[in-house]
Amino acid sequence: MIKSDHYQYQDIRDAVRALCAEYPDEYHRKVDEQRAYPEAFVDALTRAGWLAALIPQEYGGSGLGLSEASVIMEEINRSGGNSGACHGQMYNMGTLLRHGSPAQKALYLPKIASGEWRLQSMGVTEPSTGTDTTRIKTTAVKRGDRYVVNGQKVWISRVQHSDWMILLARTTALADVKKKSEGMSIFMVDLRQAERSGMTVRPIPNMVNHETNELFFENLEIPEENLIGEEGRGFKYILDGLNAERTLIAAECIGDGYWFLDRVTKYVNERIVFGRPIGQNQGVQFPIADAYIEVEAANLMRYKACELFDAGQPCGAQANMAKYLAAKASWEAANACIQFHGGFGFANEYDVERKFRETRLYQVAPISTNLIYSFIAEHVLGLPRSF
Ligand SMILES: Cc1cc2nc3c(=O)[nH]c(=O)nc-3n(C[C@H](O)[C@H](O)[C@H](O)COP(=O)(O)OP(=O)(O)OC[C@H]3O[C@@H](n4cnc5c(N)ncnc54)[C@H](O)[C@@H]3O)c2cc1C
Repeated sequence: MIKSDHYQYQDIRDAVRALCAEYPDEYHRKVDEQRAYPEAFVDALTRAGWLAALIPQEYGGSGLGLSEASVIMEEINRSGGNSGACHGQMYNMGTLLRHGSPAQKALYLPKIASGEWRLQSMGVTEPSTGTDTTRIKTTAVKRGDRYVVNGQKVWISRVQHSDWMILLARTTALADVKKKSEGMSIFMVDLRQAERSGMTVRPIPNMVNHETNELFFENLEIPEENLIGEEGRGFKYILDGLNAERTLIAAECIGDGYWFLDRVTKYVNERIVFGRPIGQNQGVQFPIADAYIEVEAANLMRYKACELFDAGQPCGAQANMAKYLAAKASWEAANACIQFHGGFGFANEYDVERKFRETRLYQVAPISTNLIYSFIAEHVLGLPRSF
């Protein structure tokens, strides 16, 4: 393995690596080829308690900080796996933890911690509104002790491998609120029950082996006790969870970045062309060195974001910058890796093309690079709002 100056939390790394080693390249390759879900891998991570890292001990989790949680995600990706199959279970519950009632926390969190209930899904994006979330058209209308939901979502991940989903819907029409960010609410949706009573799931075949779906709601009824926090404040609650999500995804990209760098440095040392290792050519060395520098720099920002988050300090800028730097660095490492594997980079058995596809996603989702630029420009640098 290539060196990093930031190998903190070695005990966690060793333990996660040992578990991941039981699921080698062949396992992930086969799951990818079959467009299947890595059930056994995710089960093992759940049983070992890794996905409950951020749940406080009083609810059965391990009560670790974001730094430790990020190391878990990094190691999963560095092992050749893809945290995208399970990261929702780690961070979606943060919304419940921060904004749920004591009764909701007591009901859900211990079962999420044990893995009995999976809260892998978060339903925000809609086909006709995209990034402009405040214009969502899915509505939840109060009728007696229930909310009745109608509308549509797109790109909602892991619905088929989750028991619950946090759903964002408009409870007050956009025209009737003072600020466009008001009037939306979030709900716990029992997915299996919903499938029987008003929610239709249509899987979206896509470039990566990522289970994601279109959802259609037709008079889906949700009990009022499933509303999280106050009605109308759901958008703010979702935003509150984004810093943890961004930072954890940055760590996944960093894991990917090191994976690509491990693979490519080994390959270019061994591959002989023109009578010498290809890694002896500066044209080969420099893009790899460049990617390593970028991954290391992203890593510093990731730890900065974690430190601030764990200290309860504002960390929006650092979480977004970490996600930006890490997604870019892992993509550059991916490009160097596939380039210097030559034709073999395209062969499934080398796993490079699989990881290449997987890491590309992170410049688009869960937030696109442009929206990070926009956040930094407007919220950090004080430039005029563009939307
Ligand atoms: C595999 C996958 C899994 C996903 N999982 C989930 C999930 O579980 N839950 C969920 O709610 N969503 C999920 N998403 C949705 C994801 O968050 C969105 O795709 C993403 O936020 C971008 O939204 P959009 O696709 O509608 O793009 P659009 O909003 O249509 O934007 C398209 C492009 O235009 C750019 N753009 C748009 N507006 C501006 C602007 N003002 N300035 C500059 N550039 C702009 C964007 O940066 C983007 O590159 C997932 C997406 C994918 C691909």
